[in-house]
Amino acid sequence: MKAAVWHGARDVRVAETDVPTPGPDEVLVRVAYCGICGSDLHEYANGPHAIPTTTPHPASGVTAPLVLGHEFCGTVAALGSSVADLAVGDPVAIEPNYRCGTCPRCQAGDYHICRHFGFAGLMGHGGLAEYAAVPRYMAHRLPAGVPLEQAALFEPASVALHALRRAEPLHGTLAVVGLGPIGLLAVLLAARRGATRIIAVDVAPARLEIAARLGATDLVDASGGADAVAAVRGLTGGEGVDVAFEAVGSQAALDTCLGATRRGGRVVLVGLAQQVRLDAFALVNNEQSIISTVGYRDTYPELIRLVADEGVDLRPVVTSTVALRDVVDQGFEALLGGSEQIKVLVDPTPGPVATAPTTHRAEATR
Ligand SMILES: [Zn+2]
Ligand SMILES: [Zn+2]
Repeated sequence: MKAAVWHGARDVRVAETDVPTPGPDEVLVRVAYCGICGSDLHEYANGPHAIPTTTPHPASGVTAPLVLGHEFCGTVAALGSSVADLAVGDPVAIEPNYRCGTCPRCQAGDYHICRHFGFAGLMGHGGLAEYAAVPRYMAHRLPAGVPLEQAALFEPASVALHALRRAEPLHGTLAVVGLGPIGLLAVLLAARRGATRIIAVDVAPARLEIAARLGATDLVDASGGADAVAAVRGLTGGEGVDVAFEAVGSQAALDTCLGATRRGGRVVLVGLAQQVRLDAFALVNNEQSIISTVGYRDTYPELIRLVADEGVDLRPVVTSTVALRDVVDQGFEALLGGSEQIKVLVDPTPGPVATAPTTHRAEATR
């Protein structure tokens, strides 16, 4: 089979590899779609960050070279000897986080912060390939009415959903600063979780336009040095929002969030900033809370229900679908090069893939 294998920074090779053999507790998935995530992009641009290169990850036992890709779905192609509750041909979405099931956090249900925290496709082999073998617990069988293109978006949508849950209650005003895939999906899901007013902030008009389609009630164009804090405060009668989402991972976005949030409000850190400066004096005096969020737990059932039963459509964030053989040029390089992409899906099925024309401006992606 063909797979996109990470060997080092700027060195991802689409190569012929063996179809993996599923272990007793694993399923072999024939991959239908795999999204490219901002974390994949970081590994491609200047990794390794999360990819194990010397010590094997405890959950996967793998070091690089490693098959990238953690946002994937497909159909069951084979079952390990101990797996009896899935059938060959079942459509499945993959929830790619490893969990040991025995550490204190797993025992408490917080398996997303398991002591063996990690993701298939970053710390073990992933889904940018024709086939992937994953632990049974990662596979969620899909009911009729869930297109596989949407199932490939459950992973980034889970990041957004978990972040929203961390910030609840959401019955009030919400600002989402940064409209990459996670920010846009947060806008979409916040409208379903009780936020009455959703203010979307970005520097790219095309992204603001998508946010409006996904449920944003107000748009703030922060391009050209515009004062986004003043704009958000103006929209909330000077008060500021109840909750702000930092979905960029930058000092400027954090400053915007803190400045745009009311006294006693909450700022959720979704973006991956390395180090930031914080005005702790202002934070304390405004009694604001900063909430961090990583990964997700127990999100797939809700997303399956939203798409299958409530008609939620996650696809507006997809700007192109490319073939696996083109993943470097039309995936990683296109996303890095400011080529107006938001979410790129990779279709590893051999044969021609129609590439949707893109009309969106690019910004930081995660
Ligand atoms: Zn991701
Ligand atoms: Zn654990």
